Amino acid sequence: MVPVTSPDFRTHFAPDRVAILGGGPGGYEAALVAADAGAQVTVVEDKGLGGSAVLTDVVPSKTLIATADAMRRVNASTAFGVRFGDHSSDAYETEAWADISKVNERLLKLAHDQSRDIQASLEAIGVTIIRGRGRLVPPHHLEVTTAGGETQLVEADAVLVATGAHPRELPSAQPDGERILNWTQAYNLTEVPEHMIVVGSGVTGAEFASAYRRLGAGVTLVSSRDRVLPGEDADAARVLENSFARVGVQVASQSRAEAVERTAEGVRVTLTDGSVLEGSHCLMAVGGIPNTEDIGLAECGVETAESGHILVDSVSRTTANNVYAAGDCTGVMPLASVAAMQGRVAISHMQGDAVKPLKLHQVASNVFTSPEIATVGVTQEQVDSGKYQADVVKLDLATNPRAKMTNVKDGFVKIFSRKGSGTVIGAVVVAPRASELIFPLALAVTQKIHVDDVAATFTVYPSLSGSLAEAARRLHVHL
Ligand SMILES: Cc1cc2nc3c(=O)[nH]c(=O)nc-3n(C[C@H](O)[C@H](O)[C@H](O)COP(=O)(O)OP(=O)(O)OC[C@H]3O[C@@H](n4cnc5c(N)ncnc54)[C@H](O)[C@@H]3O)c2cc1C
Repeated sequence: MVPVTSPDFRTHFAPDRVAILGGGPGGYEAALVAADAGAQVTVVEDKGLGGSAVLTDVVPSKTLIATADAMRRVNASTAFGVRFGDHSSDAYETEAWADISKVNERLLKLAHDQSRDIQASLEAIGVTIIRGRGRLVPPHHLEVTTAGGETQLVEADAVLVATGAHPRELPSAQPDGERILNWTQAYNLTEVPEHMIVVGSGVTGAEFASAYRRLGAGVTLVSSRDRVLPGEDADAARVLENSFARVGVQVASQSRAEAVERTAEGVRVTLTDGSVLEGSHCLMAVGGIPNTEDIGLAECGVETAESGHILVDSVSRTTANNVYAAGDCTGVMPLASVAAMQGRVAISHMQGDAVKPLKLHQVASNVFTSPEIATVGVTQEQVDSGKYQADVVKLDLATNPRAKMTNVKDGFVKIFSRKGSGTVIGAVVVAPRASELIFPLALAVTQKIHVDDVAATFTVYPSLSGSLAEAARRLHVHL
């Protein structure tokens, strides 16, 4: 028996050899933590470190959106008294245009540089990286086939599966990479599409619709529901719909794409009601499929749901001993931040370290449209259904002095406080850079901070964050 005070205590419980399948945020964040804890870590990655998050999803899309936002600000600057040449109109359109080849070149370079940086930081702390396709072999080892066709066995005491997901395709709407695109192919465009039809009005569809419109494309968004962003706060979705209407994004609501085909000029999208939309390009954003096929899960006793997602608990354990899973392959919440947290939690658990199980109500997330929509914690729907007893304040930004100065007309702050305790249990922020404004409210939700304490915290004057404190102030309960 090793005394608890022994310096060797950790190693008698913790796996010495950790193998990680997949080098996205779920995998590489886990590798950093495991190597830091002294384990011998191997990451098996097929495409490049950083995974889809860095190479095709988060980094390129948010870099594209950064250009779209720069265009928006240039276009909106006439309202601030800015003039270009002899141009003197206050109209939405200015003479700014996006050099999309340059934009795409920049975002792809950024993605590859980021991938290289992640690889370098892993190598610097001694993580072994094997480029190749891996699969689990019992009990919890990995077999890797490299690009050259050689196979190699990575023996491990514990394994983390973080294989991510790939775009879902409809049989009648196969991407060709030129006119019919999935989100990984959108960065090959050499011209701003004349008219992009975006199929799917979830987060990815709404973000691309918003971005391409700001970049100068005509855009139609096909939504199977009666509104965009069906999973988000209804008030927030309404603000976005109004913004879409103002800048000319057309929304075909309650419409499902049945087929997408190429025409001589572009694309034709046939909807299930028989109507037809014509455009120059079509972007399919209809969700993801977990990369869990043919990777040896069943052979190792790892159970999956019907959807193919790996079943995990709140500390990332699968149904097999010493096999953990993190990220999009688990379907817990398809966010890079959640994947990374699941990966870290998995390593802490396998190391026998203190673990805080994943709490989904503490996840802050953002829709990078214009305006942005950031949320954390309890939702309006959960309050309305009686699942949570909460007081709610919604404060429009229109009266905020900083909003007036910066010509922000759309947006609001909404805070939910628990009845009785007065602690912040949820929030929605709709604003430019809402992704940066949500953090104090995420902190309040995570740390169960009272609305009076949020209200009593100094904010900069003038600032949009002043509205966070003001909304909290209005939730004060007079006893
Ligand atoms: C367009 C778009 C924008 C997004 N924007 C955001 C955002 O702004 N913020 C956010 O938090 N999330 C965002 N997401 C979600 C985010 O991309 C995912 O949640 C995140 O990538 C999940 O990380 P992961 O580690 O699970 O998987 P991935 O990032 O998909 O990485 C998995 C890796 O595993 C590798 N792999 C798979 N199978 C094997 C195998 N058998 N052998 C070897 N390697 C294998 C793959 O090559 C891949 O590199 C976005 C998603 C999309 C589609």
